[in-house]
Amino acid sequence: MMPARLDIISDAGLLELIGTEDPEREEALFSAARKARAGFYGQDVYFRGLIEFTNHCKNNCYYCGIRGANSRVERYRLSLEEILNCCRLGNLLGYRTFVLQGGEDPWFTDDRVAEIIGAIRREYPGHAITLSIGERGRESYERFFRAGADRYLLRHETANDAHYRKLHPESMSLPERKQCLYNLRDIGYQVGAGFMVGTPFQTPENLLEDLRFIEELKPHMVGIGPFIPQADTPFGNHPPGGFRQTLRMVALTRLLLPQALIPATTALGTISPFGREKGLMAGANVVMPNLSPKDVRKLYALYDNKICTGDEAAECRLCMEGRIRNFGFVPNMARGDYAGWGTGASTLPA
Ligand code: SAM
Repeated sequence: MMPARLDIISDAGLLELIGTEDPEREEALFSAARKARAGFYGQDVYFRGLIEFTNHCKNNCYYCGIRGANSRVERYRLSLEEILNCCRLGNLLGYRTFVLQGGEDPWFTDDRVAEIIGAIRREYPGHAITLSIGERGRESYERFFRAGADRYLLRHETANDAHYRKLHPESMSLPERKQCLYNLRDIGYQVGAGFMVGTPFQTPENLLEDLRFIEELKPHMVGIGPFIPQADTPFGNHPPGGFRQTLRMVALTRLLLPQALIPATTALGTISPFGREKGLMAGANVVMPNLSPKDVRKLYALYDNKICTGDEAAECRLCMEGRIRNFGFVPNMARGDYAGWGTGASTLPA
C-alpha cells in the first residue's frame, strides 16, 4: 500500500521508492499518483502550444545540444511576426496557453521580450502566456509580468550543489537559479521548476534532494524528463536516464504535490514509444505539442532523436489527442491554471 500523504515519508522510504525495481510496487505507486491527480483534475490532460523561438544560447550546460559552444548547431531566431503567426495558428487549433521557450539569447533584450509578450497579450487577452527563457534579474521578470506573462518555467535541473557544478560551467550557480525561482514565485507567476533524471553523476540521493526541494518550493508546475545525450556535447557518450525511474519520479512528485501541473515530456516520448502516455499513467496531466514552424523544429535539438520534429502543428495536435484518448484521458484545451489559482486556494506559502 502507498501512504496517502507522502510528506510523512522518511528519506529512507522515498529512496526505496526512487530505486525500486519491483513492478508491483511501481504499479502501486503509479496508481496512487493517478488517484491523487484525479482528485484535482479528473482525467483531463491540458494542452500547451510550445513555440521554440530561438536556439541561440549564451550558456554552456554540458548536457544541452544548443549550448553556446556547440558550433555544429545552425542557429535561428523567430521574428515577432513569426511568433505571432505561431500563436494565431495555435489559437485556431484551440490552444489557450502559449509557451515561449528558448536558449538564453541576449539578442532578446528585456525590451524585445516585453514587446513580444505585449503583442500576444493584445491579440489574446484571455490566453495564458508562459515564458521559459532562463535566468534574468528580478526586474526583468517583473517587467515581463507587467507586460502580460503569467507563467514561467525554469527547471532547477538538480537541487544538489555539487551535482549542479558537474553539469554546468563555473559561470552558472544553483543558488542563483533557485533565487530566480523564488523571485518568480514572489512576483506572482505560476512557477515551474523541474529536473532531469539520469544526468551523468546523479545519485538516488540527488533525486531525493530534488523531491525535497520541490516539497519546499511548492511550484505550480514540475517538468521532469530523462537526460538524453546529444552527440556534440561533453556528455554525448553518457547513457540516457532510465525510463521507469523517470516515471517513478513523476509519480512521487504527483504524490508530494497533488495539485501540480506536470507535463508528460517530449523527452519521455523520445526514449520510449508510448513514453508520454505512460507519463500520464504515472501522474502527469499536461502535454506540450509543438507550434514552432516546421523548418526550425530540427534545429532546436537539445538531445538526439527528438520526436515530433517533422510534423505540422495541426498534425501534432491531432496525433496527441488520439494518443491520449487511447489511454482513457480527456484532452482539455482550456487555459488549465493551477487548481485553485485565483480563488485564494493556492497552497503556495504567503
Ligand atoms: N534556456 C531556458 C532554461 O535554461 O530554462 C529554457 C530552454 S532549456 C534548453 C529547456 C530544458 O531542456 C532544460 O531545462 C533542460 O532540463 C532540458 N534539456 C536540455 N538538454 C537536455 C538533454 N540533453 N536531455 C534532456 N533534457 C535536456
